[in-house]
Amino acid sequence: MALLVVEGVSKSFGALKAVDDVSFTVEAGEIFGLAGPNGSGKSTLFNILTGIPFGPDRGRISFDGVEIHAMSGHRIARLGLARSFQRETSFESLSVWENAVLGAAYGHGSGSGDDTVAEALTFVGLDREHWGRPSNELSVYDRKALMLAAALAMQPRMLLLDEPAAGLTKPEVDAFILLVRRIAERGITIVLTEHILTFLMSLSQRLLVLNQGQILTLGLPDEVMRDPRVVEAYLGS
Ligand code: ADP
Ligand code: MG
Repeated sequence: MALLVVEGVSKSFGALKAVDDVSFTVEAGEIFGLAGPNGSGKSTLFNILTGIPFGPDRGRISFDGVEIHAMSGHRIARLGLARSFQRETSFESLSVWENAVLGAAYGHGSGSGDDTVAEALTFVGLDREHWGRPSNELSVYDRKALMLAAALAMQPRMLLLDEPAAGLTKPEVDAFILLVRRIAERGITIVLTEHILTFLMSLSQRLLVLNQGQILTLGLPDEVMRDPRVVEAYLGS
């Protein structure tokens, strides 16, 4: 059974259909890419999936067999569906350690103690000497690593990453790709967006392309990239 089942979800802002009748499934263990030009509805779809800050106007979503489309964001997080935001960290004046603890506090289960936080920070490459530093003193790459550590400390089963590589240099993107793969190897299912297609191509096992809130295509990355409608959607944006 698929870990995430999305059926006919829609979300409008006034007359704008930001997400329009979208259906797909994500299998446990998969790295699933969500592509589409700016404004195509990627972040809105993430909002809907996590209930933060809103659920869908219409449609059904189930996570591991539990219907979540009408649940609060906090309950959804506790089921193990976590997200990161396009912003690196929410609390720039807090220390690295405090940021990761705050991430963990939002997570599921009760197992998010100091050991979990320490393990998550170390896993992403932020060793002990960084922990007491204000997070706004970190490099851009390390802030993104911290964002991942805070999400990992939640001990999620599925992690939604919204444009996690934005602002990174090419070598940093390559390092980040390896880090995301290592997270997937822990058994955490990953759904990620990016408008940079090369990043998504190298990570995703399947790729869904949104355009103006609707699914343009869904398939294997090479197939999707050969679809002339995808090229057209990107060029037109
Ligand atoms: P993407 O993440 O693919 O760039 P978004 O999901 O952020 O796209 O936005 C999809 C569309 O919905 C855009 O036209 C955007 O302006 C609009 N939109 C997103 N969030 C809101 C909001 N809270 N209020 C009004 N319009 C919004
Ligand atoms: Mg977005």
